[in-house]
Amino acid sequence: MPRRRNEPDVLIETPDGLFCEAGGFHIDPWNPVPKAVITHAHGDHARPGSAAYLCAGPGAGLLRRRFGSDTPIEPLPYGRPLRIGGVTVSLHPAGHVLGSAQVRIEGAGGIWVVAGDYKRAADPSCAAFEPVRCDTFVTESTFGLPIYRWDDTATLMADIAGWWQSNASEGRSSVLFCYAIGKAQRVLAELARDTDRPAFVHGMMLPMIEAYADEGVAMLPVRSATDQPRGTSFAAELILAPLMARGTPWMRRLGSHSDGFASGLMRVRGVRRQRAFDRGFVLSDHADWPALLQTIDETGATRVLATHGHADPLARYLREQGMDTGVIRTAWEGEGAED
Ligand SMILES: [Zn+2]
Ligand SMILES: [Zn+2]
Repeated sequence: MPRRRNEPDVLIETPDGLFCEAGGFHIDPWNPVPKAVITHAHGDHARPGSAAYLCAGPGAGLLRRRFGSDTPIEPLPYGRPLRIGGVTVSLHPAGHVLGSAQVRIEGAGGIWVVAGDYKRAADPSCAAFEPVRCDTFVTESTFGLPIYRWDDTATLMADIAGWWQSNASEGRSSVLFCYAIGKAQRVLAELARDTDRPAFVHGMMLPMIEAYADEGVAMLPVRSATDQPRGTSFAAELILAPLMARGTPWMRRLGSHSDGFASGLMRVRGVRRQRAFDRGFVLSDHADWPALLQTIDETGATRVLATHGHADPLARYLREQGMDTGVIRTAWEGEGAED
């Protein structure tokens, strides 16, 4: 990470992840630490075992369900400044999943914002991204290449609804694979705009859906496909399931079905071909290329550090535009990241 003038960096890279020396905390550490500030509940950001956690208020329920209810988790409302050691920390909506937060840190080295994962597309299941002015902006770059440009959500949701309908008219069920935190609830919230027909979900998704309902997110009513009595027909039904259920005996109960995957990864040709779903829906919870550039511009930052995904091409592009840039390595490179 480049250093500027004689100011200390607000955050430094350590073997456990980004560390704020003046505040004594890590952000999204990948090993247990004394104090962890968490941007959101996905597995590549929120790791168990730390002695204390701080997260945005709406995300605390998800973290508790992941880590256990006795985990010391301090929820902080969006926008409320908190003094930690020699710095002031506040959390601001990142628009990625419920409770996702950008971490703003004001210290002797200026104002830093660590965005975590974020998106700019509207999402009825979480608070909308808010641009935060800063000196140094740490941006994700999961889809940090000019080829990544998302279609609008309404078009994608009409595709999903149309697929469900046409499968139903032929007596098949529709099995939509998606991540259990964020994507499932976003799809259920989007569908609830047009129908109140219940959907089925894999049993392991229920606690995370409940965490959203607890925060007042309106979604389609759901039933556990896992708990239905033997012989239940799922013909014409929509079933949401995590990818790990694909190809397992659990699928047999669903009978004749079409399968689809809702993820930004469906824009990646290799993934599309290799995974061979009947349908791919390019519904991403990350910023696409234009949204990354727009966001970087809106922060007013003079230095941008890219991480998480295509960090090198994004940093190179910004450098060519005359910006001070760098790259932060993470323990989670490549395709393992949840989308
Ligand atoms: Zn994420
Ligand atoms: Zn991530």
